[in-house]
Amino acid sequence: MSRAICVFCSSSNRVDPAYFAAARDLGAALARRGDTLVWGGGKVGLMGEVARACQAHGGGVIGVIPESMQDVEIAYHDADELIVTQTMRERKQIMDERADAFVVLPGGFGTLEELAEILVLKVLKYTDRPLVILNIDGFYDPLHELFEHFIEHRCAGPEYREMYSFVDSIDAVFEALDQAWPSVR
Ligand code: AMP
Repeated sequence: MSRAICVFCSSSNRVDPAYFAAARDLGAALARRGDTLVWGGGKVGLMGEVARACQAHGGGVIGVIPESMQDVEIAYHDADELIVTQTMRERKQIMDERADAFVVLPGGFGTLEELAEILVLKVLKYTDRPLVILNIDGFYDPLHELFEHFIEHRCAGPEYREMYSFVDSIDAVFEALDQAWPSVR
């Protein structure tokens, strides 16, 4: 069954080449599975890389970009669908509405905010769609430690660990998604 996978990732062009490779591999793998990419609609950084790879392998890509960011992130006009929103909040809302699952590649503050919003929605039981964090070369080890720190200090319960998966390969992303999917939505 074809799914829409929302990918949150860096808009920076200066990140480690290994992260670009991961973005390419993820885009290609999504396309091969017949899944559709939902992403921030930009050509820059890992955002552009994942979309180009997905399209190059025959996958559909749906971009969601705020009007004011079209020049900054260089809107990807070759997307199968490019949704232009008025605000950043509207962007996240549409990405959320269009997605069956969320995958996180290396990224900065924007990616962190996107990830955290989905996690909070899961904690509050607004959704139980899968959230998978691709921890390439240990990039997200500090975030994983921070999550454990929250649990250790009882700011989060141990059951929160069920609401996200940290994985270190593309294959493991899809294993985590396939495991989680019976209970989606
Ligand atoms: P970054 O991880 O900082 O490179 O950002 C990744 C993506 O998140 C970029 O497309 C940003 O435009 C986007 N982003 C940052 N803040 C927000 C927000 N408040 N709502 C929606 N998207 C955001």
